Amino acid sequence: MPVDTVLHNAKVYTSRGLIEAGIAIDRDRIVKIAKKANLPKASHQIDLKGNIALPGIIDSHVHLRDQKLAYKEDFTSGTSAAAAGGITTVIDMPNNQPTTMSVESLKERMLLAEPKILVNVAFNSAFPKHTDEIPEIVKAGAVGFKLYLPQQIGGINPDDDQTVLEAFKAVRQTKVPIAVHAEDKTTIEQKQKNLMRQRRDDLEAFLEAHSLEAEEKAIRRVTQLSRKSGGHLHICHVSSKHGMITVLKAKKLGFDVTCEVTPHHLLLTSKNLKKYGNAALEVPPLRKPRDVAYLWRSLQKGSVDTIASDHAPHSLEEKNAESIWNVKPGIAGLETMLPLLLTQINKGRLTIKQLVQLTCENPARIYRIEDRGSLKKGSIADITVIDLRKEHRIDASDFHSKAKLSPFNGWKTKGMPVKTFVNGQLTMDDGAIVSKPGAGRIIR
Ligand SMILES: [Zn+2]
Repeated sequence: MPVDTVLHNAKVYTSRGLIEAGIAIDRDRIVKIAKKANLPKASHQIDLKGNIALPGIIDSHVHLRDQKLAYKEDFTSGTSAAAAGGITTVIDMPNNQPTTMSVESLKERMLLAEPKILVNVAFNSAFPKHTDEIPEIVKAGAVGFKLYLPQQIGGINPDDDQTVLEAFKAVRQTKVPIAVHAEDKTTIEQKQKNLMRQRRDDLEAFLEAHSLEAEEKAIRRVTQLSRKSGGHLHICHVSSKHGMITVLKAKKLGFDVTCEVTPHHLLLTSKNLKKYGNAALEVPPLRKPRDVAYLWRSLQKGSVDTIASDHAPHSLEEKNAESIWNVKPGIAGLETMLPLLLTQINKGRLTIKQLVQLTCENPARIYRIEDRGSLKKGSIADITVIDLRKEHRIDASDFHSKAKLSPFNGWKTKGMPVKTFVNGQLTMDDGAIVSKPGAGRIIR
């Protein structure tokens, strides 16, 4: 019996590094990785033209919106953007309307998503009001919890140590990780109040409110609380030198902590924010060159665990609000992350091995996503094919995302995803979406 598909003429990234080989796929699984002569007969043959087959990229920080926020993004537009960007699995964040924070809201979101998604989607939940709901939410399929420290999203007050600790302890029993947005609420609110009293309404004022201290203080507090609970903490989008130093100290002390950085914090500084204006506004905000340099140094030393896009789409009106305090922070990142990172590989600042660790292996391990994140016999056939020589110019007006705005607009990149396979099916081919909504799966 022939298998469904053989991908041949490729360099395949396996545990042995890049090898000249092909991949045999039957239904949704990889059945063999071998030289062409040793591959089984197949109904379909696809020539990868010497390009590199990587494990499907997992973006572990994505706001897919939909429901009452569908004007910003919906499951189909968001997962089309992912497929176009070479991403085969995304982990969705819970700050939705309604907030994902109960068994009912999670199930409702999954039900709505299932027929609309083109890549695989896993869900983070916010904390419920009552900790006894936490195991039920995990049973319903949440792969983690997200704690947002700058304001209350979900059922618990993020400023109350005792409540947060109780919630952390309850999550620990379920073995899923807690992802945290670490900026201290009180520090930001006090500064913002003062600035508003002085009638400050400019980008510089926004940077002052979202200070380095706010990040460092929050990371220090939340890593201590997590250590007391014994659970796993994943610090999202570390943006500053002192924030990273605080994470590294916690790691050195043996705390169960991992951390994420984003392409925008690695490639842009507050100078870019002044140049691009609100299009580049996100939280935590862009920092100084010495912060960016420290993030890179930490990444090179292997101290960073994941790179994620923090894809956070908003409408044009929301990004162009008159007062800086009303501008919605966040940028579209699904379609730019991989081209930007491949460009860094071409520049010699990142290796393919690091890319696979940061965007495939580590997210799969942290969120305990089985059978994805590496290419081997028996794995699900989620595959991102890249052409490292292909040049491209980022054009936000071409995005599949509804958010057609990017601080990287106009940037020249070298290295592109050229094919995305999701569950064994070709989903993106040379930039075009070739599968239908429903091809992606909910990961529980
Ligand atoms: Zn986010």
